[in-house]
Amino acid sequence: MSDKQSNQLSNLTLILNASYLPLGVCTSKRAICLFFLNKVDILMNYEDYIYSPSTRLKVPSVIKLKKYVNFNSLDVVLNRKNLLLRDNSCCQYCSSTKNLTIDHIIPKQKGGKDTWENLIIACSSCNAKKGNRTPFEANMKLMKEAKKPNRFMYYNQFINYKNKGWKDYLFHGKN
Ligand SMILES: [Zn+2]
Repeated sequence: MSDKQSNQLSNLTLILNASYLPLGVCTSKRAICLFFLNKVDILMNYEDYIYSPSTRLKVPSVIKLKKYVNFNSLDVVLNRKNLLLRDNSCCQYCSSTKNLTIDHIIPKQKGGKDTWENLIIACSSCNAKKGNRTPFEANMKLMKEAKKPNRFMYYNQFINYKNKGWKDYLFHGKN
């Protein structure tokens, strides 16, 4: 396989459920495997082709499962990467983008949980200044309420000039 081909295979493909609800994102390589396993229909392609000795195929950009799977795609996984994404990679107290940490709004020792509503991105100095206090006790104001993000935020990070067509399925699709 040439470098160009392997680049194209690392393109991302949007996977839709049989109901057209977005399910996730995979590499185009995986999408092509699913296609050859007869598990998906291809709805949209990139301009690039991949070649095998016997066939030529456009790289899939959006695929749809033939069979419906029961999966709640509304949930975004709670992890550091997605917290950074939700909070625009800046401290929610002072908007610094340096030395970012994860702060428990209600400290753990006071019963604060590891949830979207209780975790925010904070720079290390704000985190240290706040210490083992609530924002109210520390007289520090959050720039915005900590909320559970939705899947639009999640998918938005993958949208680029090559796959603008995804928007039709993500934001105006038959949900
Ligand atoms: Zn800060």
